[in-house]
Amino acid sequence: MFAKKSLGQNFLHDESALRAIVEAGDVQAGDHILEIGPGLGALTKKLLATGARIVAIEKDDRLIAILNETFKVEIENKTFTLIHGDALEVDIKKLGFKNNAYKLIANIPYYITGQILRQFTENTPRPTCAVMMVQKEVAERAVARDGKESILSMSIKAFGDPKKIKTVPRGAFNPAPGVDSAILLIKDIYPRFEKQEEQELFFLLMKAGFAAKRKMLAPNLREVTTNPHTLLVNAGLSEKVRAEDLHLEDWKKIIYYAAGK
Ligand code: SAM
Repeated sequence: MFAKKSLGQNFLHDESALRAIVEAGDVQAGDHILEIGPGLGALTKKLLATGARIVAIEKDDRLIAILNETFKVEIENKTFTLIHGDALEVDIKKLGFKNNAYKLIANIPYYITGQILRQFTENTPRPTCAVMMVQKEVAERAVARDGKESILSMSIKAFGDPKKIKTVPRGAFNPAPGVDSAILLIKDIYPRFEKQEEQELFFLLMKAGFAAKRKMLAPNLREVTTNPHTLLVNAGLSEKVRAEDLHLEDWKKIIYYAAGK
């Protein structure tokens, strides 16, 4: 079978990487797992071996035929449910998942990483945690490895705690992709801003704060608020601070004053 480049089909064959995904999700018997992009089923097999129940969404009809055959027994005994569809379009609520009562495991094409992340953090039902294979540089940016935050790291931290589990070299896949990958775990997924309007304000200010990278935060914020200097001083921050130096707690203080409390 030829791998479809358009669907990001790089099948993971490395045992230690497959094991690391299952361990990162602390997958246990009885867990409910949503797997996106099961491919040829290498990871699915490992997940099922734990005794967890799996629902998997796969877009490629050629793979659906193979998976139906490979997991005939598990499909019959209902430990495995296979959905033929696009994970970006399937209504997760209709699959019976409850908020914070399932785990998301996704080894998906890199070009949908951002959309999947947003879909499963910003909307309910949210998973308790997500284990995703991402491009190595994306994992490093998500955890602010160099100490510098970004729109990506802050967007994730508004909902969970990101952790880079391990680098997965390109040779672990067949066919090998052009870049190295990493397993990214996002733990404890729930909104860190209690109110919807605080969350919206956070995203508005945070994105504006990162708009011109070389600028300090205050001039960037001027695009969306009239007196950014007062806001920063009230939040106990330096007027010269840059968006990349702020952690979630700093943004919470800014939002507290911006919301007029
Ligand atoms: N999980 C398998 C593994 O570890 O070997 C396959 C990984 S491969 C990188 C990505 C898989 O996601 C492919 O099987 C591909 O067909 C599937 N896929 C791509 N886009 C998808 C989408 N929008 N919804 C569901 N599956 C998708």
